[in-house]
Parts: sequence; structure tokens; C-alpha cells
Amino acid sequence: MSDLLERLRGRGWRLTAQRRVIAEVLDGEHVHYTADEVHALAVARLPEISRASVYNTLGELVALGEVLEVTTEGGRAKRYDPNAHRPHQHLVCSGCGTMRDVHLVTDPMGALPEGERFGFTVSGVTVTYYGRCPECGSRA
Ligand SMILES: [Zn+2]
Ligand SMILES: [Zn+2]
Repeated sequence: MSDLLERLRGRGWRLTAQRRVIAEVLDGEHVHYTADEVHALAVARLPEISRASVYNTLGELVALGEVLEVTTEGGRAKRYDPNAHRPHQHLVCSGCGTMRDVHLVTDPMGALPEGERFGFTVSGVTVTYYGRCPECGSRA
């Protein structure tokens, strides 16, 4: 069973067939999908699933705090991140928009020197790496 499903079950979230498929799609290989991508992948497993129930379920998961909504520069569609409780950063393809989780060797919080904090109590950091994924890189 996936990590997300386990957390949802632990919270007593009622797992209908539709909700289960959506949670399974989200909790794949640490790649974050848009709502439309989640819908396409969910339909492949459960053909009767509607776009509306995908959108509603994603909204509920975000409200529960078990899934994060993430956006990237350039106004691309929102993506849904099931890795809501483990600090991590993102690697984004500027060609197709694919976003995946990456983990840094050093803690990025510690990379901000005291003199650059301007009296702030710093509570979080987001680092996003941009580039071309293997699929986009091989296309001219
Ligand atoms: Zn790409
Ligand atoms: Zn993530």
C-alpha cells in the first residue's frame, strides 16, 4: 500500500474506489501531476471516473493537508504533490513541465547566512531546479 493511502486510512478518510484510484495515481514515482494528468491516469484504471470527482478529491486532499498544491514560474497549471510531510525540493523541466522530487545533500536552510536574514525568523525554503528532462533534451 502506498504512503499516501496509508496516511489517509489513518485519518479515517472514506476510501471509495474513485478516491483510492486518485490517491494511487498521485502516489506514484515522486513525479507531480496536474489535475488533467491525474484524471487521464485515473481513467486508465477506472474508466467511469469523472473530471469533476478528480478535481473535488484533489481539493479535499489539499484541504486535509495530505497533498500540496505546487506551481512553477511561467504560470503553468498547478501540480499535486503527495509528499506533504517530508522536506524536499523540485526539479522542473522547462520543456514539458514535468516536476519531480529531489533531495539536497546539504540543508538549504543553513545556506542563508546570518547577515542575509535581516532579522527574519526564517521558517522555510523552496529550491527549484530547472532544466530539460531526458525526453525533452533528446528533441531538437
Ligand atoms: Zn520535459
Ligand atoms: Zn514534491
